[in-house]
Amino acid sequence: MRLRHKPWAEEKLMNHPQYVVSEPEKWRGKWHELFGNNHPIHIEIGTGKGRFITEMAKANPEVNYIGIEAYTSVIVTALDRAIDAEVPNLKLLNKNALKLEEFFGQGEIERVYLNFSDPWPKKRHEKRRLTYKSFLKMYEHVLVNGGEIHFKTDNQGLFEYSLMSFSEYGLKLKYVSLDLHNSDFQGNIMTEYEEKFSGLGNRIYRCEVKYPKNEEARVELN
Ligand code: SAM
Repeated sequence: MRLRHKPWAEEKLMNHPQYVVSEPEKWRGKWHELFGNNHPIHIEIGTGKGRFITEMAKANPEVNYIGIEAYTSVIVTALDRAIDAEVPNLKLLNKNALKLEEFFGQGEIERVYLNFSDPWPKKRHEKRRLTYKSFLKMYEHVLVNGGEIHFKTDNQGLFEYSLMSFSEYGLKLKYVSLDLHNSDFQGNIMTEYEEKFSGLGNRIYRCEVKYPKNEEARVELN
């Protein structure tokens, strides 16, 4: 993603506390209080410009959504979308997901979305992939028992790697498509990257995986 420096972006995020939570650590274990309801909470890591999370929030008012994006100059567009859509069930965090466990308490989240995550194709960068085992461990901590990861990408190498990583971690595959746009999957909401890369003729891969209900049931293979 080409990043333009936008010096005004930080101030804009600060000026919209109804959408942008600047100190998520303060809400650890209390996100339902912040949303003012007990609806399930779904997070997207690497929200980018926010089309997916905003459309999801519009389509599913009975779910609370939190979009996490490290770059200020990118998430500011997600904020514009949220303001236009007027979605009370959406919050945005301009944070690095490496700190996920500081933001959320154990079992606070029902689902993690990973959309078009950076592939980090070099082996020496494996640990940076959002489907590497240390991330899977972090997600496990903040997810409810039986929580899910929904993942899509146009990068075949990252998809293959992620299926292996999920499997080695003992996650159960609930759904897989090797060509999402030519599948019978209903209700797909396209991300910005998905529109761009499918427009170039790339196939879109998608899967849903589930953590076992009982933590002891997870078979440690590594
Ligand atoms: N999901 C969007 C889409 O499909 O259009 C954006 C995809 S873009 C390739 C990946 C995004 O993930 C980038 O905006 C990047 O800044 C963000 N990102 C990568 N690692 C992250 C992390 N650890 N925490 C927060 N954001 C991250």
